[in-house]
Amino acid sequence: MQGTQPVTASINGLKLALSFNGNIVNTLQLKKEMKKNFPDFTYSCDSDLVCQKLLLELKQGKDLTSAVDACMQSLDGAFSVAGITGNGDFFAFKDPHGIKPLCAGHSPDGATYAFSSETVSLDMNGFLRDFELKPGELVKVSKDGFEREQIVKNPRKAFCAFEYAYFARPDSRFDGKYVYEIREEFGRNIVREYPEIAKDADVILSVPETGDDPAMGVHEESGLRWERASRRHRYVTERAFILLNKERYSTIDRKINILYSKVDGKRLLVTEDSIVRGDTTKVTIEKLRRAGAKKVYMFVTFPRIIGPCFYGIDMATYGQLIGSRHSAEEIAKIIGADAVCYQSIEGLVRATGQSRDQLCLACITGKYPTPLAQKMADEMKEKFFNGYEEKGRIYETCETAPQA
Ligand code: SF4
Repeated sequence: MQGTQPVTASINGLKLALSFNGNIVNTLQLKKEMKKNFPDFTYSCDSDLVCQKLLLELKQGKDLTSAVDACMQSLDGAFSVAGITGNGDFFAFKDPHGIKPLCAGHSPDGATYAFSSETVSLDMNGFLRDFELKPGELVKVSKDGFEREQIVKNPRKAFCAFEYAYFARPDSRFDGKYVYEIREEFGRNIVREYPEIAKDADVILSVPETGDDPAMGVHEESGLRWERASRRHRYVTERAFILLNKERYSTIDRKINILYSKVDGKRLLVTEDSIVRGDTTKVTIEKLRRAGAKKVYMFVTFPRIIGPCFYGIDMATYGQLIGSRHSAEEIAKIIGADAVCYQSIEGLVRATGQSRDQLCLACITGKYPTPLAQKMADEMKEKFFNGYEEKGRIYETCETAPQA
């Protein structure tokens, strides 16, 4: 149950319940501050920190707007937050870069208001979507509806580009566009970017499930048949890329099954959302080869991941990223593919409908939207390439990690 949301906290009659999506970078500094002010403070996840920090500001007599302002000034990282006070004040806010999604909606009878990371949960509960929160915005719910306040103005929006390729549900909408449609365009893009490879393939195969969405675009652009010849085990639900080494191999092996007759003797064009460590893809390719695949070309919609993420995707060290130290050609050799074809960054950005300076592309460009993250990444990169052994998440171990 540890870390289950919403988290709650109370002091001197003040109460707060809060749900949070994201990742705080300056956790060491905040933990110290919370321990100083709340002797019983225990930390199980970043939601505790955000909840206690907000409560601390309210305890000092600030109103909700000023308390949220103080949080936005002192929290570093990605945070999309929805909460309710003991008085029944219902609110939500988003970090000044707007890294994680957060939208607002209401029930058809207008009696109930809701906040959600993705539109899909509004849809599924029969709610209507009203708007996506802006970076640095606080939204309060009153009897008259939503009250929007721009707390921090930041010209540099940095919405996570990985949401489009992997994290978000395909049936969610960002800026009115379904994620699925964007992924289809990713598929069309890769065929345009690697026409010779596409010509050399017999059939498309997708790694379920996020590889399914671009496969339709690859099919449309190349005219190749899309075979649903790799099937995902419905009840093995662990995310392989966040598991420990040993568990990961057996999970991947159990997760995907191949229809041999559809693969035997074929040159395959395999769509995949991303390559993080490379071992998930390697196991899949081994399975395809065992099934008789003659060639395996990987079409990967998210460009080569070269650096860690500090903002909520659990790929926090250079060492765990195959793309941090290997080119696409080297990766192809390591994972046993005939070629690894990444979508270009330009292609990805264009398909999202955003401009480059509205997206976070840090893990694929090495340019982080927040200065602290950039400092930490640069320091760790230098150490890593000089033989330093990383011992955990950068922001928890790095010397640059801010201290109180
Ligand atoms: S570093 Fe990558 S995964 Fe992390 S928020 Fe930025 S784009 Fe998303």
